[in-house]
Amino acid sequence: MSETILDVRGLQSEFRIGGRWYPAVRDFSLAVAANETVALVGESGSGKSVTALSILNLLPAVGARIAKGSVRFGGEDLVGLPEKALARLRGDSIAMIFQEPMTSLNPTMTVGDQIAEVIQIHRGATRTAALAEALRLLEEVRIPAARQRLHDYPHQFSGGMRQRVMIAMALACRPKLLLADEPTTALDVTIQAQVLALLNELKESYGMSVLFITHNLGVVAQTADRVAVMYAGEIVECAPVDEIFARPTHPYTEALLKAMPRVDRDTEALEPIPGQVPAITRMPAGCAFAPRCPLRAPQCERHPELLPLGPSATHHLRCRVRAPQESAA
Ligand code: ADP
Ligand code: MG
Repeated sequence: MSETILDVRGLQSEFRIGGRWYPAVRDFSLAVAANETVALVGESGSGKSVTALSILNLLPAVGARIAKGSVRFGGEDLVGLPEKALARLRGDSIAMIFQEPMTSLNPTMTVGDQIAEVIQIHRGATRTAALAEALRLLEEVRIPAARQRLHDYPHQFSGGMRQRVMIAMALACRPKLLLADEPTTALDVTIQAQVLALLNELKESYGMSVLFITHNLGVVAQTADRVAVMYAGEIVECAPVDEIFARPTHPYTEALLKAMPRVDRDTEALEPIPGQVPAITRMPAGCAFAPRCPLRAPQCERHPELLPLGPSATHHLRCRVRAPQESAA
């Protein structure tokens, strides 16, 4: 077994709405091993970003809370850690890449200066050394003519190239864990897959783990090691990537596969999933997917647990129809 880098257990994150607390993430447990890429996949509103923000302790200070659970990183529980210690970790051992509109790219600075600044702050390098390292990083993320592009501003890059600049910036701190929340959403599927493949390659040489968040199951096919499918704040299925594609077992995972374009095969007719992810104020008491599920049965009125599927220790499922749960309450 390889070393566990991130170990989230029993996480429950809540928002206060109209004076009451509602969970947006529930009973969430996930471990990420050294050098592993785990994809967290689910439709918009499933709780992926709230999970990422909870891991980093970046939920809004008011009206949001981690109600239960622990987030162990390098043996330390980040929940309740003083802000100063967290801030150091966030810039250093854990790097984040967010969706384009929330990027940390500064439009008024050249990308070379921005990357160099990160290196100077985090690694105490001189400016000359930092600029040389910035160039090396731009080459590493395969920006063509990197030496010239060092002096360009973010708006002079295409979406895909900007994504690469952001990756270079994240790598500048040599993180142990890279958290990427829908970093490629604005890009077309082919470019998304290229960015992911690059991340995967860099992961090897940097010895880092990646938690990759996306609503598109299609783009993770060749790159993730494991996939956790999230719905209505819970993991509903989790398995090695090949297993997810060969034996998708939760009806929601099946629906996601049919609804999403893939890069590794011709797109067949896509079938949108009818209905919507329930609002956190209106969670069904039983299986949260039941109202949209073609396999809905009477036992779905009782909330299902996430349990190992068959003898496999690596495939977990939260579904009373596909995996009867006699022992579960
Ligand atoms: P995803 O990233 O999977 O699209 P999110 O994690 O952003 O989903 O959201 C999960 C749920 O939490 C959604 O129902 C969303 O409306 C709710 N939520 C997110 N942020 C807030 C907030 N600041 N206040 C209230 N509800 C929120
Ligand atoms: Mg999100």
